[in-house]
Amino acid sequence: MILGALETGGTKMVCAIGNEKGEILERVSIPTKTPAETIPACIDFFRGKGIEALGIAAFGPVDVNPASETYGYILKTPKLAWANYNLMGAFKEVFDVPMGIESDVNGSCLGEATWGCTQGMDNSVYITVGTGLGVGIIVNGQPLHGMLHPEAGHVPMIRHPKDKDFKCNCPFHESCMEGLSAGPAIEARWGKPARELADNPLVWEIEAYYLAQGIVDYILTVSPRRIVLGGGVMHQEHLLPLIKKNVKELLNDYLQTKELQDLDSYIVLASLNDDQGIMGCLKIAMNALGV
Ligand code: ADP
Ligand code: ZN
Repeated sequence: MILGALETGGTKMVCAIGNEKGEILERVSIPTKTPAETIPACIDFFRGKGIEALGIAAFGPVDVNPASETYGYILKTPKLAWANYNLMGAFKEVFDVPMGIESDVNGSCLGEATWGCTQGMDNSVYITVGTGLGVGIIVNGQPLHGMLHPEAGHVPMIRHPKDKDFKCNCPFHESCMEGLSAGPAIEARWGKPARELADNPLVWEIEAYYLAQGIVDYILTVSPRRIVLGGGVMHQEHLLPLIKKNVKELLNDYLQTKELQDLDSYIVLASLNDDQGIMGCLKIAMNALGV
């Protein structure tokens, strides 16, 4: 089976050809500029390769409801050139094959659930802590859709006592998870990129305090079987143990499941070498084909 996979990101588009085993056979990265500059280059990559389906995981918000008139469009987004852009339609004009589209993080969640560390689990959560903070959720084996898709990176946060005065980095909220804990928020708070702050314990105490609050929200609402953390900021190896410590304190033994007795296997790092997103696109393509 020859499957097309497209992961759109704020800095680059990853286009790949793969198969139903999750193998990526060929890929390119194309810088994200305007749709008029970027999309024709993506289309050229897929042309003549015989793709049988295309799976797209897109920065959002994106319309994932097949019954909607704007299905496959990027909706209102701070990336203004892409607002209200018919992303899937641009590919439909050229390729007459089944297509599916998900939010970027629902794509990564699907990649891990199909080939990675949440295989066989019907409910899981994937969190990326990078340029943004995105949350993908699978419930009953399917990426969660409803009114839209989850936008759980913007859940409200209680401020860390030593972080009361920081101006939240999100233009919409005074105190949300993305605005307080994504990579650019760390850089704004401390005046240096996160990777240069490894030796400052307060940076990571505050970071873990916020990430744990979000994780506890998701534990209590979604009841995931496992939570997976990815994105550039999670490359800080000392962060994960701090997150688990904060999660344990916040839950305060309220729940006594076997999963929560063993946080080391319940809250884990992504397992697919940063390919979880593009592999998730292969699964989106398979779902579109009905296989
Ligand atoms: P994107 O979210 O754009 O797809 P990443 O997941 O790599 O890309 O996230 C980029 C963010 O992660 C930046 O804010 C950067 O400062 C931060 N970052 C990247 N590498 C590291 C690292 N090793 N330690 C801490 N932060 C990092
Ligand atoms: Zn926000």
